[in-house]
Amino acid sequence: MDGLDFAVRYPFSSEARAFIGDLQLNEHIVELGTERILKALNGTASAKVIYHESDKKNEIASFAAARMILGYMHNSFITNKFAVNESKVMHGYLNRDDDTTVDKIGKTFGIHTQKENERQMLGIPVYISFSPKAPHYRLINRRIFNGLVEISNDEKKRLIEEAIKKHIEKIPMVSDPPVMIQDAAKRIIDELPKHQTKIEVKDNDHPPCIMKLLESVKKHENLSHPARWFLATYLLAISMEEEAIVGIYSNLPDFNEKITRYQISHAKKKGYSVPSCATVTTYGLCCAICRIGTPIRWHQLDKSNKEALRK
Ligand code: SF4
Repeated sequence: MDGLDFAVRYPFSSEARAFIGDLQLNEHIVELGTERILKALNGTASAKVIYHESDKKNEIASFAAARMILGYMHNSFITNKFAVNESKVMHGYLNRDDDTTVDKIGKTFGIHTQKENERQMLGIPVYISFSPKAPHYRLINRRIFNGLVEISNDEKKRLIEEAIKKHIEKIPMVSDPPVMIQDAAKRIIDELPKHQTKIEVKDNDHPPCIMKLLESVKKHENLSHPARWFLATYLLAISMEEEAIVGIYSNLPDFNEKITRYQISHAKKKGYSVPSCATVTTYGLCCAICRIGTPIRWHQLDKSNKEALRK
């Protein structure tokens, strides 16, 4: 892979910045940047095959234009969606690229693994910084030797994806951009998916673990798969309509309406029950000592018990 192709795939890299150093922002680049954001919002961002050198440079510049638009919009929901979708596309490239490229990108974020016998090891602080919020990645479930965590190649790429996402999320504010950037921001607001639902919950409506998840969803933070699964079984168990659950999930930065509808309806058909508190604890999602066995029993507690547990 030559340097320009590398820069197209990883537009946050120093190589990418060098390629677009002398390129002027224009309507076409801003249009490409706008499309990039809209695709992220619709969950349709995907890898591209580009043949011509000028198109490749425009593609790299579109990433910078998208960041400028996002810096002007200063909207955490849109920025999160952009970061999640872009980092997923780059994860796809990492899966196709050779180990040298994966190592090069990893080192950009300090993800520098060492070989010990046949094991691939990573320092604990870096591991903690970029490991996803899933039980499988919790330190307690990992093999640790001499202060280093053993990781597989796939896990290394997942950590790099997380590092790229965090990097992209850090967008400086842009206060007075060119008019074409301001117009692009207006267009994105006009085309925002309209089904996003505002989440309104009152104190004690749900057990602490569910309240915490709903708070995260409200802030458009990503949820791990076990967290999504747990939340869905709970919301179905309290007889929430499928449409309302999809509305809640629409706040997630990697929301895909079709997949979400399918998963919710599949869970409902199968009648999966809400996991016990012991299972929720193994997911790392328990945040109180309610002694009710399963979160769904929260609704059998009286008001004073609920309040006592929240303190
Ligand atoms: S004890 Fe059960 S209900 Fe309470 S926060 Fe933990 S998992 Fe949720």
